[in-house]
Amino acid sequence: MQVFGLIGNPVGHSVSPPMHEAAYEVRGLDARYVTFEPEPGSIERVLAGADALGIAGLNVTIPFKEDVASAVDTDPLAGRIGAVNTVAFEDGPTGYNTDAAGVVRALEHHDVTLSGRAVVVGAGGAGRAAAFALADAGMDVHVANRTVERAETLAAAVPEASSGGLDGLADALSDADVLVNATSVGMESDETPVPKAALHADLAVLDAVYAPLETRLLADAAEVGATTVDGAWMLLFQGVEAFEIWTGRDAPVDAMNEALRDALSS
Ligand code: NAP
Repeated sequence: MQVFGLIGNPVGHSVSPPMHEAAYEVRGLDARYVTFEPEPGSIERVLAGADALGIAGLNVTIPFKEDVASAVDTDPLAGRIGAVNTVAFEDGPTGYNTDAAGVVRALEHHDVTLSGRAVVVGAGGAGRAAAFALADAGMDVHVANRTVERAETLAAAVPEASSGGLDGLADALSDADVLVNATSVGMESDETPVPKAALHADLAVLDAVYAPLETRLLADAAEVGATTVDGAWMLLFQGVEAFEIWTGRDAPVDAMNEALRDALSS
């Protein structure tokens, strides 16, 4: 039996186990997906232990994504992002960032053309992944963040990117094609990081927040006629990409989506 898993702290409410185990069932794999909650600061021992135990792959979430990026060899994209959310144990651990593919594949799944201008709100882990992914896809990226210095630092690392604070969002969005909320604003609340007046019908809006599925931002975006993509699509496609890295096989996207949405609604 192969063992995959998730390390984070906390991971109690993770919906990744049912999503991945649905894929193992459809593909006939003898595999399990389990969650681990190690203590912060223990990442070297955790990775060595997982490798020694023959664990086949790990997802990584808060607060370990940056620690793991420093502790393992990474693929070039994860290295540029500076955060790892997927580790494959082949000849030792290799780190990947599938949040980036999660953003791109979620938008493409909704027939969003990735050209023109993208505004990424947020400069933490999800914001970094979104900014690099959309720039690599060919978009001009603007990063807006509450702490402007973090937006500036990220934009300096992303080719052709610009940066600003949240107060410049209306200007930045006026000619934008894609908006990604990569802040935690809207998580379990009715708040939005983007004023409704800055939204318009030519935008595709992806919210990384997935609880609730319809955030205030997405409700506002739908009201002005924008295309909306909820955070479960990003969560799905980061998992799809991880499954494909680990197994070398196409993921059963529909089954994973169904299991994920069941888990999110229960
Ligand atoms: P993070 O590294 O802690 O970054 C948090 C970001 O949110 C920062 O840009 C921060 O701005 C901003 N922020 C926090 N509170 C704010 C407020 N009150 N007003 C304005 N900005 C605020 O977190 P992360 O890992 O990037 O995650 C961000 C969100 O994305 C979370 O909700 C997470 O669940 C979600 N996420 C979803 C997926 C998915 O697959 N759907 C994947 C990864 C993450 P400052 O820099 O100013 O503090």
